[in-house]
Amino acid sequence: MNAIAEVQGIKKTYGKTQALAGVSLAVEAGKVLALLGPNGAGKTTLVKILVGLLPPDGGSARLFGEDPRRPAARRRLGLTPQETGFPPTLRVREVVELVRAHYPEPENPRTLLTRFGLWNLKDRLTARLSGGERRRLTIALAFAGRPKLAVLDEPTTGLDVESRRGLWQAIRRFAEAGGSVLLTTHYLEEAEALADRVAILHRGRLLALGTVAEIRDQVGLKRVAFEAETVPDLPGVVRVERSGPRVTLFTADADRLVRELVRRGVPFRNLEVSPVRLEEAFLLLTGETGR
Ligand code: ADP
Repeated sequence: MNAIAEVQGIKKTYGKTQALAGVSLAVEAGKVLALLGPNGAGKTTLVKILVGLLPPDGGSARLFGEDPRRPAARRRLGLTPQETGFPPTLRVREVVELVRAHYPEPENPRTLLTRFGLWNLKDRLTARLSGGERRRLTIALAFAGRPKLAVLDEPTTGLDVESRRGLWQAIRRFAEAGGSVLLTTHYLEEAEALADRVAILHRGRLLALGTVAEIRDQVGLKRVAFEAETVPDLPGVVRVERSGPRVTLFTADADRLVRELVRRGVPFRNLEVSPVRLEEAFLLLTGETGR
């Protein structure tokens, strides 16, 4: 496998909390891997170990084939921290220069700022940036050193829909040009839109790893949705959701369920049979009822 970064059987315990209980996964060249999981799942811990900020208690981590704690391994790594404070008296372009100076072959500042919709703000003091602009600058800085691997921790948290889509486009372009991306997110929609593969973490364990389609298959259920006033208990239904007049039933055998609806004369309208959505697969796998 063409792994840019990988962890094998990593474990981490903080006091009595087991944050990671033996997780193995790899980021491949030119691919986007999304690490998905509810708060406390262990995503940040895994990322910190992979980029050499935290030693694991067990297992191993490799970054570009080396120990991630070695500076040489981190040279082609771009990182977005979850929170960033910029010196308020610096302008956007000065912050970019400061970060570029750390790298042997940095990105052209205009290319970088344009890609993240910040070129027209290049002379603005960072103290005068809005929350969303600040966030975009943080993410842009992860790409300042022209990394081979960008690690983005919850990159679009707090961004409006338009900025989020713009950012997705920039990340996709980076991957199309051969870059690799590891991103953590709790937006399933983001994983669905961006990721070649998704890893679902839950309580320090990997519940699923694969393409969105593979994860849906792993759940092995279809969704049968329709409008009806009442629905009798039906065999083979593992979960029922109702939203206004619309009912969604999850079942392994959709054909059988639809035949049963007809046989019992349930007066359904606008029937739709479809694969489970990633969000639903996630809920079914983790047994969580909310995010
Ligand atoms: P996520 O990023 O998925 O929200 P984290 O990796 O931050 O998850 O946390 C995993 C678990 O480890 C949580 O139960 C969290 O409370 C705990 N944890 C994380 N960092 C520390 C720390 N520095 N000290 C003690 N517990 C921690």
